[in-house]
Amino acid sequence: MSKVAIIGAGVSGLSMANYLEKNNIDYHLYERRTKDDLKGHGFILPKEGIEYLSEIIDINELYTKGSFLKKYIHYCHNGNILSEKDLDNVFVISRSTLIEVLSQNIPADKISYRSTLNLTGFSDEKAILEFEDHKSLKADIVIASDGSRSRIRRTVFQDETMRAVRENEVVNIIENEEIASQIESNFLKFHHEEGGLTFGVLKLSSTKILWYCQFDITRYFINEDYTADCIKQFMLDNFGDWNPLVSSIVKESSYDNAHIWRVYELEKLNPFHYKNIAFLGDAAHPLIPFTSQGVTSALKDSYILTQLLLEKKDLTETFEKYEQERKPEIETHIKNGRILLEQFLLPLNQQPKDTLPISYK
Ligand SMILES: Cc1cc2nc3c(=O)[nH]c(=O)nc-3n(C[C@H](O)[C@H](O)[C@H](O)COP(=O)(O)OP(=O)(O)OC[C@H]3O[C@@H](n4cnc5c(N)ncnc54)[C@H](O)[C@@H]3O)c2cc1C
Repeated sequence: MSKVAIIGAGVSGLSMANYLEKNNIDYHLYERRTKDDLKGHGFILPKEGIEYLSEIIDINELYTKGSFLKKYIHYCHNGNILSEKDLDNVFVISRSTLIEVLSQNIPADKISYRSTLNLTGFSDEKAILEFEDHKSLKADIVIASDGSRSRIRRTVFQDETMRAVRENEVVNIIENEEIASQIESNFLKFHHEEGGLTFGVLKLSSTKILWYCQFDITRYFINEDYTADCIKQFMLDNFGDWNPLVSSIVKESSYDNAHIWRVYELEKLNPFHYKNIAFLGDAAHPLIPFTSQGVTSALKDSYILTQLLLEKKDLTETFEKYEQERKPEIETHIKNGRILLEQFLLPLNQQPKDTLPISYK
């Protein structure tokens, strides 16, 4: 079987490596960061994501490291309940934990950290990749799983347009046993009555909670230094007078790990492959956070691409089938994500009552 080079060890690169490992396909994974640099916050995973994960990891171990969400409760910012919905096996886990679990099955000699690769050209229809010290790398198959701002994708598709989404997020994980027990297994989301501003909170474990806010970037402005103090000030200014649960979380949180996510999307999807390169996860299709489908989509990409590689057909045919199988579903999530964004921007009294913050196909 051919040699596969996977670029990027986020959820998509690591899940691809897990599927290849399981199916005895030779590969090597190259990752820019160091092994211990596990940034990121949390993921909401719908049931389907758990099903794909259970193919490659010990799912019972995963269950001990995150938590299931039983109910979605939607509030007005003053604390009035707007709607409640039962959730069907929706799981929440921190990004660092999921990355750690996905890394466990990858033998140390099959992953190189501190290895940033750039695409410098093609020879014999194969990508030439270069490390920062200019050493080059050639592989039969290249899996570009280098994230939403993929350098490899931008080198191949130079005409693409990435545009800022009218929504950014602040995300934070804090230790707070009292609030964790107070919110139980519920996913609470508060929405300002004028629209364009939300606060969500969920329990990651008995001692940790994840909270996030979403804001319309044309109405709410954050100091672009993005320091912990700037983020704290932004949260106090905009959420300090919300109902007591939100305002107390905002006031009492440590902001050392708070992060601001600027959200971008591709104006138009590119093909999911080019010559011997296949794009996976966010590198193929950045999805806006409203969909909660980024991780599940990355897992499905890896699963389907591996199944097709096992058929040992011509590579172009394999990649075309991969795109045919994956693109329609991704287009549905993009469409749903844009609908959820439009709804988020509207005043509460114009929003549909019983939506979920998840895109289902
Ligand atoms: C605010 C926010 C909230 C979100 N919430 C959810 C959620 O609740 N549920 C959900 O399913 N999804 C969510 N998502 C989406 C989710 O984060 C992504 O879809 C998912 O992490 C994609 O993983 P990935 O592996 O494709 O990319 P990434 O996680 O970006 O990984 C890319 C990896 O490639 C490495 N890399 C980059 N360039 C190079 C290079 N040149 N050479 C070597 N290595 C390189 C990077 O260091 C990184 O490790 C959210 C996203 C945002 C922004």
